[in-house]
Amino acid sequence: MNTDEKYNGYKDLMSFTKDELTDYMISLDEKGFRAAQIYEWIHKKLVFRYRNMTNIPKKLAAMLEEKYIICPMHIEKKLVSQTDGTVKYLMCTADGNIIESVAMQYSYGMSVCISSQAGCRMGCSFCASTIMGLERSLTASEMLAQIYLIQKDMGKRVDNIVVMGIGEPFDNYNELIRFLHMISDENGLNISQRSITVSTCGIVERIYDFADEEMAVTLAISLHAPDDELRKTIMPVANRYSLDEIKKACLYFTSKTGRRITFEYAMIAGVNDTPECAEKLASYVKGMLCHINLIPLNSVKERECRASYAGAVRYFEKYLEKKQNNVTIRKGMGRDIEAACGQLRRECLEAKGKSFQENERM
Ligand code: SAH
Repeated sequence: MNTDEKYNGYKDLMSFTKDELTDYMISLDEKGFRAAQIYEWIHKKLVFRYRNMTNIPKKLAAMLEEKYIICPMHIEKKLVSQTDGTVKYLMCTADGNIIESVAMQYSYGMSVCISSQAGCRMGCSFCASTIMGLERSLTASEMLAQIYLIQKDMGKRVDNIVVMGIGEPFDNYNELIRFLHMISDENGLNISQRSITVSTCGIVERIYDFADEEMAVTLAISLHAPDDELRKTIMPVANRYSLDEIKKACLYFTSKTGRRITFEYAMIAGVNDTPECAEKLASYVKGMLCHINLIPLNSVKERECRASYAGAVRYFEKYLEKKQNNVTIRKGMGRDIEAACGQLRRECLEAKGKSFQENERM
């Protein structure tokens, strides 16, 4: 759990698992069942004020109030799409970092996209999140807080979670795993692991680790290119891991979990959308238990690249289907509010005159 300066000297109670909270209550000579009560207030009832926890003795509530913050984040700004009801949230951490989360309405329920880091050091050439490098990783409670604040604000249950906002979740592995266990805990919001997707640019060691966690979470891999040479030109992480290594790790994941992997392929005009790329992509995924998600690129002001023509996207879809693949084209959501990764955070930081030139990069 986190007890450092991120919280301005306070400790972070929301990151305690129920077992850790129980041990802590016992160490205070409190009854162990207080932990169950407090855990339920925070993670099920989403009550973030000790004084509103009506079954907690006043003395204990006052002591906790002095030392522990509960929700380490607040909603700074909210934008609602006029076209599809997508809501984009700018959230602010206790130490003043800005991140983004998005709530999207689908026929099957509300899906929330959360950030795993403030900034990103992966350096993908088409992505707005990485332009200013990595500020810091988010804690498990900061990931939980995005879900809790959105559920409270929208007044309805979050049904699906995608960890596809700002940041590389596998560059923040331990906090990610803690978050996944807590959000799917039956003592909390109890969101089914099957309704959660984690997206990575392909940090191979962590794919093996993730397979070994044996969770029912879906793994999505940002492929974006069907060969190493091309991939290196748009994703610096490709200099570290080859597509062959990624494929081996994915095969390990599917054999260990029995779960279908999603390959994400953002289509960039004239870069990775030629018929030859479609062919290479089909041969790369051949025989794998997978699903391919074609993503028409969201144009980012600072980036040169543009979205592929609709015809190229349809060609990929038809070609991959002909090769017996399971393919979908991602629906663009919230275009009018710049819902693509990191665009708003960047604008907000620029407006505040903040510079991240010195931040860490890969
Ligand atoms: N770092 C993780 C998760 C965050 S991004 C990853 O790389 O998977 C979520 C997805 O959005 C990734 O597939 C990412 O490559 C993609 N993405 C980033 N910028 C984009 C843009 N401008 N248009 C379309 N997709 C984009």
